[in-house]
Amino acid sequence: MRNDTIVAISTPPGIGALGIVRLSGPEALDIAARSFDPVGARHASPLQPRHAHFGRLVDHDTGETVDEGILTWFPAPNSYTGEDVVEMSLHGNPLILEKAVGLLCRLGARSASPGEFTRRAFLNGKIDLAQSEAVADIIGASSEAALRAARRVKQGDLSREVANLREEIIAALGYTEAVIDFAEEPDVQEHARVDIETRLKKCESMITGLLALHGKARRLREGSIALLAGEPNVGKSSLMNRLTGRDVSIVHPTPGTTRDVVREWIEMDGFPVELHDTAGLRPTSHLSPLTSHDEIESQGIARTKDLFDQADLIVWVLDASAPRGVRSVEEFAQWMNQANGSLARSIFVLNKSDLGSTVDLSWLPSPSTDVVRVSALTGEGVGNLRRALGEKLASGIQSNSEMLLLRPRHVQSLEMARASIQECRNRPLGETAPDLLAIDLREAVAHLDEITGTISTEDLLDRVFSDFCVGK
Ligand code: GDP
Repeated sequence: MRNDTIVAISTPPGIGALGIVRLSGPEALDIAARSFDPVGARHASPLQPRHAHFGRLVDHDTGETVDEGILTWFPAPNSYTGEDVVEMSLHGNPLILEKAVGLLCRLGARSASPGEFTRRAFLNGKIDLAQSEAVADIIGASSEAALRAARRVKQGDLSREVANLREEIIAALGYTEAVIDFAEEPDVQEHARVDIETRLKKCESMITGLLALHGKARRLREGSIALLAGEPNVGKSSLMNRLTGRDVSIVHPTPGTTRDVVREWIEMDGFPVELHDTAGLRPTSHLSPLTSHDEIESQGIARTKDLFDQADLIVWVLDASAPRGVRSVEEFAQWMNQANGSLARSIFVLNKSDLGSTVDLSWLPSPSTDVVRVSALTGEGVGNLRRALGEKLASGIQSNSEMLLLRPRHVQSLEMARASIQECRNRPLGETAPDLLAIDLREAVAHLDEITGTISTEDLLDRVFSDFCVGK
């Protein structure tokens, strides 16, 4: 219900010098006026907008003074929620603050649910949905860079990008009309098609750019993921133990010993990195007859493939004791295909270099200078490897002034909008009915509208605001 007046403690639980109780809604001023007695008021109407009033919060039923404090009234629509808002700054004792909320509820207010103040700000058009979410991200940011990235979303940077995208797609939609209206005029048709294609291409790269900015921000907030990948028995687990300085992975001469993904946090050049040691890469077709032993291993392999997509860095481990660093070049190339497009995020490591130095790596897709030689057994070259990993990560985390901290919801909507655009671009424009193109484009617009909340459902709003704290 939006017509009632809500109240909540807006400061964190616990004891503090000050605690703020906030009211929002049509009755806010009336409820405040019936409970707050300004001290030394000189005006006929004691509560002035946006003025700090010192006074007492009094329960007039019992005559008890709950506390002394400062009251400020922000009349609608110039308030956080867009409604009449009253803030009482009292002593930060939970007993006092809870008593104050109890009194204000008896006078007609209702206890606010989590995020309800911000939800009202959204419903009253003060901020859009992406900005509302950024409020929670600003409150929850755990690093300076994450805070900056969340603040950019709150200031509307994401919303502006989404609005630009929307405008391009709407323009392209307009041209689909032209294709219909000027069906007899090939010149106009051709012009419209070129325009649609140009705009959609631009939209696609704008979305890809936004997602890349998010990828960088995510790394700062959550740390990066580095994946140790390669054939079984090349020494991934041994390398993991070397890099973490702990015995976290099982090292065994039998291939396929690492059954599950072992994860460990390390710091590399100041960046938090979650190192993943994976089950040995082996195509499942090699695992026959399928025994329970192999089933466990093939599950591990499936997870490795998922991790390829998430990893910021893939450390391909090769074996210096094999003539070409791998048992089978073809097999290895297949796995690299699985990690399609990962070359820019890849580093090649030649392990067991204590056993040989005459390996032929000319088949590798990147120049051999990119291969770091190490021995997990002796520790030789591990320092160089750390440096190389740190540099690779750093190159992906530059220009953080541009980062945007998106939520999984935003990422999903952007990806779906991009898929609709791609669908449209994949159709042969000359042969496709314009109505069909328009359907794809409208779908793309709908996905974008979900981000800013132009289209929103109660269910979506419940999900968005449920992870807010009460009082925000
Ligand atoms: P994974 O299956 O890739 O995780 O490989 P492991 O780390 O379990 O190692 C497989 C075998 O290779 C074990 O017997 C290790 O002791 C051995 N190994 C690992 N790294 C090195 C190395 O740098 N030099 C030598 N000589 N042996 C190694």
